[in-house]
Order: sequence, then structure tokens, then C-alpha cells
Amino acid sequence: MTLSFDPDSLTLPRAHFIGGAYVPAAEGMTLHRPSDGQAFADCPVADAALVDQAVQTARTALATSGWGSVRPRERTRVLQRWADLIEQDGPTLAKLEAVASTRPVGHLIAGDIAVTAEQIRFFAEFADKEGSAVVPTDGTSFGMILTEPYGVVGAITPWNFPLSMAGWKLGPALAAGNAVVLKPSEMTPFATLRMAELAVQAGVPAGLINIVLGDGPTTGTALTGHPDIAKVSFTGSTGAGAAIMANIARTGVKPMTLELGGKSPQVVFADADLDRTAAAIAGSILSNAGQACVAGSRVIVQDSVAEALTERLLARMAAIRPGPTWDETTDYAPIISERQISRMESIVEASRAAGAECLTGGARLDRPGYFYAPTLLAGVTEQSPAVREEIFGPVLTLQTFHEEDEALALADHPTYGLAAGLFTRDLSRAIRLTQALQAGTVWVNRYSRSRDHILPTGGYRQSGIGKDLGREAYHANRKSKSVLIGL
Ligand code: NAD
Repeated sequence: MTLSFDPDSLTLPRAHFIGGAYVPAAEGMTLHRPSDGQAFADCPVADAALVDQAVQTARTALATSGWGSVRPRERTRVLQRWADLIEQDGPTLAKLEAVASTRPVGHLIAGDIAVTAEQIRFFAEFADKEGSAVVPTDGTSFGMILTEPYGVVGAITPWNFPLSMAGWKLGPALAAGNAVVLKPSEMTPFATLRMAELAVQAGVPAGLINIVLGDGPTTGTALTGHPDIAKVSFTGSTGAGAAIMANIARTGVKPMTLELGGKSPQVVFADADLDRTAAAIAGSILSNAGQACVAGSRVIVQDSVAEALTERLLARMAAIRPGPTWDETTDYAPIISERQISRMESIVEASRAAGAECLTGGARLDRPGYFYAPTLLAGVTEQSPAVREEIFGPVLTLQTFHEEDEALALADHPTYGLAAGLFTRDLSRAIRLTQALQAGTVWVNRYSRSRDHILPTGGYRQSGIGKDLGREAYHANRKSKSVLIGL
């Protein structure tokens, strides 16, 4: 079966999805395909009235369907059917995602589709296994902790992995008995809409998942500040996360989960297996062209092996296969937008002006669309913009150290603490540094999440509040009530 497709042949859903049906919308923001820069569609922008319609629809659906109070195994069954439909519909979902985003169709079919389905199955299994508990008391009373769904959850997702980010939000919220109003990124709304259609086909009551399209300032603000949104679950940049906190504070108080930006270090000691280390580091910065929250964008290498590691990284950076996302042979993605690639250019230029030496890349690829060459910057300092700022692209900085303490000091970032990589064969050092590194995830002698959904993901410092995935994500979608009955 060929996975390649003609991007002009697709029919794109372009409307909000409310109450199980599409709601036609006026023309919105023009969208350009990252792979060739062509304008190809538009994304409507929901105003506060439309967001309110979606929230009220979700409330009504929750009340009439009894989703939060049905036998929990029923939620498991329906969500598992939804996961099956997502896998069966893989080719359609992959096209809808690939055309607008930076995800190559081959990667979607080999990875994202199954990962998204698995996330939903993972959370579906919690519905009838985790819940209220009887607690020990002094014998004069009977104590319980009851857990209950929040009601309507407001979810907002970024453009870099639209399907699996939607899975992160919808899976635990629905399994825990809530309804959801989700706003996908204005740049990549299509696959999320299709996911919501499939949910209804699987038996998720209409109105339990509502998708409102639009930007952050208009639609996102209306959603997070809506008084009937009981909880907010957000993934995106640290700046937007701070704006959401401020908006929530302005309009009331409610719980929120924020998965934000990163600037993750990869610390390499001289005793590491350098071939495997180079493969892991290159994989992390070249996958989705570095447009991943956990991209390991800062290499911190012991001076005696810096040259040997650099040679290996350069070889891997030279071996990319760029191409449009609709070509199944593509393995190197474009950058999402002109705005994003220009920002990357200015950070790299400012870093060079501050003394960075560009060992490879540092420019766009000579082809249509928004492609940026894998870039390795040496001679950087902690003040270099490429070291301080989240670039969200295929730009790797290289710093060297001599002693372990120096490595730890360089690894520490004043703002971010999302993930860190550590490469060493010394077990004691690995355990010592795993504890010392200030990051929500530490990988040792590897650098990727794989499919272990049981591991929570989230940030230290300004990389976030709360966790997605893992048990924590399920429990974050239920509130608890303490009950004491006098005997
Ligand atoms: P972004 O913050 O620009 O946008 C993310 C989403 O938030 C979009 O849907 C956008 O419309 C919306 N938004 C923006 N401003 C808003 C506001 N004031 N109120 C409500 N909604 C608002 O991020 P992006 O460019 O789409 O994605 C890249 C960022 O996401 C990077 O910083 C990356 O690190 C982060 N990210 C984090 C994780 C994680 O798990 N920590 C995962 C993926 C991406």
C-alpha cells in the first residue's frame, strides 16, 4: 500500500464540531502548507458566543447521557471502540494531519496513529479500576474519599503532534467521566475534528466532545475564562501558559494542568557509548525537525570526547531525507510556518553575532516550503540566545565541561526543566545525576518517550504544572470529596 498522496485531493472539514455535528462557520485565518508554503485552507475563529454554545452543549450532554455516573466499565468499552476506530481510520487521519502539519505521513502511520489509540485505551482502563476508597478512622465513624468528575474540561492543544496531544487531553478527561470542549491549534485543526467524528461513531454520546476552532486570544481566552469550564488542560508555550493563568485568575479560580516549553540538556560523559549517544541525540533534535517540547537541544559534552561526538553528530545531520509531508519517503519535516522559521533565523543570527560558530546548517534548505537545515552551534555561552531560548527547531548547541559539577551547572536552565538526557556507563554517576537534574523526565543512555504511557510527563520550573499521561493524568480529571459518617 502506498502512503503518499496528492495534497490537493483532500476534502477538509472546516467547521466547529458541536453536539455531534458540524456547525458552519464564516471564513477565518488563511492556512499555508508547511511543506510547500501554498495557501490551502482557512481556520474559522470561534467567538465567545460560540464557545458558550459548545460549553452549554457539553453540560447538557453530560447531564442527559449520564456519562459521569454510568457503570464505569461502559466508559471503558466505548473508549476502547473509539481507539479501534482511530486505528482503522489511520490512512484518513494521517492525510488530514500531514497536509497541514509537520508530521510526515509515513511517521504518522508508523507511530502517531497507534500511539494515540493506545493512549485512549490506556486511560479507558482506569475508569473501573481507580476510584473512591474507604479509609481507616477511629471506630466512631466511617470514612471515605469519594472521587467525582469535574464536569466540562476545557482543553487546548499545540500544532506539533496534534493527534497525540488530543489523545493526552481527551483520553483521561473522558475516562474520568467528564465532557470536553477542545480547541486545537489554529494551524492544524483537521485531524482533531475527524477524531471527534469517530468518537461519536464509537458511541461517545454526542456533545461530550466539542471542538471549537480558533486562535488563542479570541477562542482560547473565551474557553479558559468561561465560568462553566471546571478545569483547564493546556499544552503549548510557557508564554501562553502564563497568559492562561492570568486569564483564569481574572475570571475566577479553577484547577489547571499546564504542559509548557523546554530547553532540555543532553549531558555526555567520556565513558558513554558514543555511537549510541549520537544516534539518540540526533534522533531527538531531527525528529519533527526539533519541534518537540522535549527536544534535547543543548549538548553538554566532556571535553575529551567532544570532537569524536561532534563528528558523529555531523554525519547524522548530513543524512536527512527532507521532503513534503505527503511523500511516504520523507523523514525530515518542514518547520510549521514562515513566522516560526524567521524567528529561528534571527535566534541563530544573534547567537553567531555573539560568537557562536556554526559547524553545519544555519540556513534554510533550498526547496519550497519552510525547511531549515540541521544546525550545530559550537562556541556558545550560557548567555547565547540559542542556549537560553526555546527555538523549537533543528538547532543543537554544543558546550563542553571537564568536571561533573561543571556539567550539572551547565545543564541547569533558569526557566525550563522539562526533560534531560544523561549518557554514561558509570552506574553510580547515573543515579547521582538523575537525582540532581532539575527536570520532569530524565532519560539515561536513551532519549525518547516510547509508548510507556504509565510514565507521567510534565515539567519542573516554568515547563509546567501537573502531569499528562500516567495515573496522575487520570486523577487530575477527578475531584475528591472526604466523607465521614458518624456511627
Ligand atoms: P502556543 O503556546 O503558541 O499555542 C498552543 C495552543 O495554545 C494553540 O492552540 C494556541 O491557539 C493556544 N493559545 C495561544 N495563546 C493562548 C491564550 N492566551 N489563551 C488560550 N489559548 C492560547 O504553542 P505552539 O506554538 O502551538 O506549540 C509549541 C509549544 O508547545 C512549545 O513551547 C512546546 O514546548 C510546547 N509543547 C509542550 C509540550 C509538553 O508536554 N510540555 C508538548 C508539546 C508542545
